[in-house]
Amino acid sequence: MIKNKGINKSILELVGETPMIQLSTITANLKGSYYAKVEAFNPGHSSKDRIALHIINDAEKKGILKKGATIVETTSGNTGFSLAMISIVKGYKCILAVSDKSSEDKINLLKTMGAEVHICPANVPADDPRSYYEVAKTIHKKTKNSVYINQYFNELNIEAHYRTTGPEIWEQTQGKITHLVVASGTGGTISGTGKYLKEQNPTIKILGVDAFGSVLKKFHETGEFDTNEIKPYKIEGLGKTLIPTATDFDLIDVYEKVSDKDAAFAAREIVKTEGMFCGYTSGAVVQATKQYAAMNFFDKDSFVVLIFPDHGSRYMNKIYSDSWMKEQGFLD
Ligand code: PMP
Repeated sequence: MIKNKGINKSILELVGETPMIQLSTITANLKGSYYAKVEAFNPGHSSKDRIALHIINDAEKKGILKKGATIVETTSGNTGFSLAMISIVKGYKCILAVSDKSSEDKINLLKTMGAEVHICPANVPADDPRSYYEVAKTIHKKTKNSVYINQYFNELNIEAHYRTTGPEIWEQTQGKITHLVVASGTGGTISGTGKYLKEQNPTIKILGVDAFGSVLKKFHETGEFDTNEIKPYKIEGLGKTLIPTATDFDLIDVYEKVSDKDAAFAAREIVKTEGMFCGYTSGAVVQATKQYAAMNFFDKDSFVVLIFPDHGSRYMNKIYSDSWMKEQGFLD
């Protein structure tokens, strides 16, 4: 069945089946061939449509989510947009606890999509009552007939990617994929997609992307949750200051950290070289791929798939604004 052939009953039928596009210029100097799985082609413009729809459909099937219910979640923006979109179509109320690191664009988008938004400080510990995790939990407790999506600790986050993103990549590459490079936030994408791909071919390498200021890489390498690693950083949706159970660390071969500045320039480079208007973490994934290449992870036969999680329009006041780049000291 060709997607988009005929009439869809709602926008939700367009979730998933995103295209894979060969990268040419940006990876021209690296050994191997490189392909981007472009998640901005989802109707909510990010990979989060997949998990939001899967978790809501599952809750409906189990009878947990009833007519007129409220959906509550912590979100850096993209999951919120997906939940708000699905709530409109399915008739739910949507309340979101958002980090104050999220761009103004993202917050305005969520409000435009009918969600009630609570803005919470990013730079407090996850167990602080002001953190967006704790705020969401409190709203859930206080709101009758509400469902807490809990993407960081929800197995269905992994399952959504195991059922959709993984099989799509396997099919689109005709089983030729050798490496997958993925930004790790909740870890749902890397874990679900990685699990499916490793089941098809255990030699496929799953390469994680983390941020300086996040605990994930060190935890993966040492098993230690080191709070000394935690520092403020600008990239949204990548890295964590807690250990999400939606990350299956055993599936991930290695993590590489990227800086705010390198990821921002890499995102701008994707736009300029490939004509793909992608978000900040797509830049992080390209930057990490370059760093992995410099460490000789790839050879001429490598078939490398990069997941580009979202669309560039969400970052017009951030990485695509020269004045923001100057404020960060990234541009002269
Ligand atoms: N990039 C962006 C822009 C995101 O919003 C997220 C989700 N937080 C990710 C990457 C990471 O995806 P995941 O949560 O599946 O690890």
